[in-house]
Amino acid sequence: MRIIKLFILIVISMLTFSSQALAWPNSNIIGSVKDYSPKLTDDFYVNVNHEWLLNAKLKPGRVRTSLFNELQDIIDERLKALMTDETVKDHDGELVRTLYALWLDWDSRNAEGLGDLNTQAMKITGIKNIDELSAYFKTKDSFYNDIVIADYGIGYDNIDSEAYNLEILATGLSLGDSAEYRKMTSNGERTKKMHDGMVMYMLRRLGYDEAEAKRLLDSAFEFEKAISESMMTVDELNAPEAIKKMYNPVTMQELRQKSKVFPFADILEAHKVNSKLICLEQPKWLEALNALYTPDNLENIKAYLLCKLAESYITITDEPAYREYQRLSRERYGIKESRPDDETAVNFVHSNLSVPVSKIYVSRYVPAECKREITEIINDTVKYYREMLASEEWLSESTKQKAIEKLNAMRLNVAYPDKWRDFSGLKFDSEKTLIDAVKELQRFNTQKYFYERLNTRVDHDLWIEDVVAVNAYYSPMQNSIKIIAGILGGDFYNSDMTYEEKLGGIGIVIGHEISHAFDTSGAQFDKNGSMKDWWTEEDYKKFQERADKLIKYFSNMKVNGENYNGALVQTESIADMAGIKAMLGIAEGHANFDYDKFFRQYARIWKSASTPEFVDRLIKMDVHALAFLRVNAIVQQYEKFYETYKIQKGAGMYLAPDERVAVW
Ligand SMILES: [Zn+2]
Repeated sequence: MRIIKLFILIVISMLTFSSQALAWPNSNIIGSVKDYSPKLTDDFYVNVNHEWLLNAKLKPGRVRTSLFNELQDIIDERLKALMTDETVKDHDGELVRTLYALWLDWDSRNAEGLGDLNTQAMKITGIKNIDELSAYFKTKDSFYNDIVIADYGIGYDNIDSEAYNLEILATGLSLGDSAEYRKMTSNGERTKKMHDGMVMYMLRRLGYDEAEAKRLLDSAFEFEKAISESMMTVDELNAPEAIKKMYNPVTMQELRQKSKVFPFADILEAHKVNSKLICLEQPKWLEALNALYTPDNLENIKAYLLCKLAESYITITDEPAYREYQRLSRERYGIKESRPDDETAVNFVHSNLSVPVSKIYVSRYVPAECKREITEIINDTVKYYREMLASEEWLSESTKQKAIEKLNAMRLNVAYPDKWRDFSGLKFDSEKTLIDAVKELQRFNTQKYFYERLNTRVDHDLWIEDVVAVNAYYSPMQNSIKIIAGILGGDFYNSDMTYEEKLGGIGIVIGHEISHAFDTSGAQFDKNGSMKDWWTEEDYKKFQERADKLIKYFSNMKVNGENYNGALVQTESIADMAGIKAMLGIAEGHANFDYDKFFRQYARIWKSASTPEFVDRLIKMDVHALAFLRVNAIVQQYEKFYETYKIQKGAGMYLAPDERVAVW
């Protein structure tokens, strides 16, 4: 059971002369920037961030350094102090302190060793036939530990977005992308090496010899490879048409019909999961799963489950296991040192108890006044969007009108919610171990985020997003933006910044998020967040033609020697451009606006340097363009940029007017 979060994030994280290759080197690889700075007119991103990029160092255990990381570090330092602060008297404070202490208590963790892993493993290895396998899926062990071959979770229903539905998800793949099983990339190879290393280690700890452990791994991979053939790839999942393709409502009765061999409906019933709304994301996958659910494949499926189980314990058991995980992780991402344990413990508590952690943090560190100023910038942005949408000549009146209605209905959320989920039902016994606490969390979260929401209406006041992460969100199914507390700092925002810097920082983020309401996915959800095509067919076609031009522009670039994936980054790049355009529009209303300050601030928020291995992963998996492209390829679309810096034909930043690809 997975807790699904549905929103579009701002991170996770030419051209120029007609058909020529990329003019800018990939400056986001750490150490790639040299002493000599390129001219601002040739490589704006490196010029503005030169000193920072030149001196960028990775802290132990980190794959990237960026403004996002710097801000998160400040937050994490504060969180660390809060996690041992006895003056936080309430239940939330106690939960946070207990979990933090349990994570760091190596003596108890070592004494506990692998905990119940052996017992759990025997439940899988003891399975003798398909009926026993089906019976296993009906147990709490399978359900709470997420040791399944068919996953599900709670989502917002596409049609009735005020209702939660049960989403049937495809099998979890260790390589993350089904395309990797057809043709493995460098990133896939690294992911596989780390995954195999973790599983091998844990299987050896369970007593398997090398050959047997290897056989189990290969067997599990065989199952993954077989099922992956029918699964959508990362590219397909991110394509605009995926939204409709993945919305396949079924009743429980229909699910029973569609999944006769793999007894899906019976398994759900055993867990008392019954939803009026069920959405089957990948029908082809379910067919394939039923074809594979045979005695012939029993051993492969068991191996898959066992490997999944073993891997899930590596970070929560004893110190030797954790150190092996760190070693493999260093190798995977090309880093020399691991993160200090206390930092990892802070992260662990933060991600597992995000509501109590956020509540405590907000009460100490987020002044209520910042909501006011951010709301003002949001209101200005919304006002400008109204003008911008009205003035787009390629849009018909009907689409414009609906777009403005959608804008007017948008939920604008700042910093933190007024209402928090109640965690009083969660208790950790400080006498117990980290493994016990993790089990308790699984039980509690399943109750809170799954059962309590099933068959109910959406409560918009309860946010699912973590508010002390450095991020911002647009949710197409809630038609809402959330500019959360975590991003309101550093170069994004502080109350002493100039107006230009505020627009070039947090303003851009706001403009970016709002634009998602009007992009290829936003066009498929109306003002209430229900799936409905509200653009005229002709307008949507025009939008797509514009998007195609942008895709081509990015796809012609060579990054790290390979053609860039324009289709993967299209939506986020359109949003980046819209963000700039909106802020430039607002700027027009201000006399003596300092555009230089504005553009420089924009370049600064994307300062970023990573290991080559991590950059490779971003290129293959991230829907956002690499940071240097989020700056250079975006600003060069707008005339104001050329005016401000007197950029002429022949300069690296120059793009001829007819080659510019801004959708908005
Ligand atoms: Zn975005």
